[in-house]
Amino acid sequence: MAPPIEPEFQQALDELTTSLQPFLDANPQYKKALDIVQVPERVLQFRVVWEDDNHVPQVNRGFRVQYNSALGPYKGGLRLHPSVNLSILKFLGFEQTFKNALTGLSMGGGKGGSDFDPKGKSDNEIRRFCVAFMSELFRHIGSDTDVPAGDIGTGGREIGFLFGTYKKLRNEFTGMLTGKGLTWGGSFIRPEATGYGLIYFVEHMIAKACPEFSLDRPTTLVAISGSGNVAQYTALKVIELGATVLTLSDSKGSLVAEKGYTPEVIAKIAALKLKGGSLDVLANEPGYTYHAGKRPWTLVPTIHIALPGATQNEVSGEEAEALVKAGVRIVAEGSNMGCTAEAIDIFEASRKAGPGGVWYAPGKASNCGGVAVSGLEMAQNSQRLAWTTAEVDGKLKNIMAECYGICLSAGSKWSGEQLTDDVLPSLLSGANVAGFIKVAD
Ligand code: GLU
Repeated sequence: MAPPIEPEFQQALDELTTSLQPFLDANPQYKKALDIVQVPERVLQFRVVWEDDNHVPQVNRGFRVQYNSALGPYKGGLRLHPSVNLSILKFLGFEQTFKNALTGLSMGGGKGGSDFDPKGKSDNEIRRFCVAFMSELFRHIGSDTDVPAGDIGTGGREIGFLFGTYKKLRNEFTGMLTGKGLTWGGSFIRPEATGYGLIYFVEHMIAKACPEFSLDRPTTLVAISGSGNVAQYTALKVIELGATVLTLSDSKGSLVAEKGYTPEVIAKIAALKLKGGSLDVLANEPGYTYHAGKRPWTLVPTIHIALPGATQNEVSGEEAEALVKAGVRIVAEGSNMGCTAEAIDIFEASRKAGPGGVWYAPGKASNCGGVAVSGLEMAQNSQRLAWTTAEVDGKLKNIMAECYGICLSAGSKWSGEQLTDDVLPSLLSGANVAGFIKVAD
């Protein structure tokens, strides 16, 4: 068979379709909605021409996939990475639609970005790219239409450049982007939200599946991949609670902390990443070992909790088997579609085998805290008010608890499995079915 034209999108669609089968068999009136929901409402593609520091014009592709507005304005991040293409943005926008539904807030799904590579670019080059990108995107977005945000390659600095350009072109100060700075409409906890939300979700999983690996114990060993915004705040929350973070990584390799990461080293990584640097710079840090070209999953003998936090398909089937052997009990994605289909099959088989198996949570459930706080930022912008850190964090905790609860109950009802007291419900099936029902209805 010829390979699919849009492999990442096909993978996300296959996962959803397979999960929905028992639900659709019992509710055939929903089948048409599955046909409809897989087609994006609108796909925008545009040229972005910007000038580099040598005054040479450069060109990139810009995209915005306005996937689904059934539940609210299109909402989702902008990814700036050389790998960006329509297959990747369609998969991300599709996943985002169901993720946003799982937050319980009024947000549709979308995603955008460009194949622009921010690595090695000066601040001025990044600014000129962002101005050029928004000079086209501004006519398609708005606080009640489509509200982009950050993703890989787009952080607070880029959101600032994009916001300023929109404001100037439209002569309008509105909340049409989230992830803004605190003094100009941003929300407390937004930078931390994906990582913190992931850990709030994981705490519910641990309490049900393996309380012996509670995160207030230093003996609980956590492997995290990635070293960007999601991975950094995931690690900081784990350390704050008291468990041990063994690994972080980037596209070039992994840095293993034999005795566990400290907040000081994570602060060094945050500074490094802002300048486009990589983890190999920390290879001589006492107590840390750098492994070039390796992902974290095979590097430490014992792992209790594994949290992919870098990008899609970052856990292969072989690495999933290594994680099972390392004693992992919880795998929850901070990244979108962090696990390959092969890895998910291995984790789901381990769960079905009964006590002591792996319990897997897909990103559309476990990482929805980021976009949830974006939804809270939109709510604050509409009121022209700012809530306190405690208020936002409290709401985030409630949203993650609610999301976990609906995934658990839909997974118990619609996985098509004969549930026994020994087998945990499938959160994969639960997230897909619960998200789909909300959008389809
Ligand atoms: N890029 C993030 C995600 O994948 C956040 C999107 C947003 O805040 O709109 O969910």
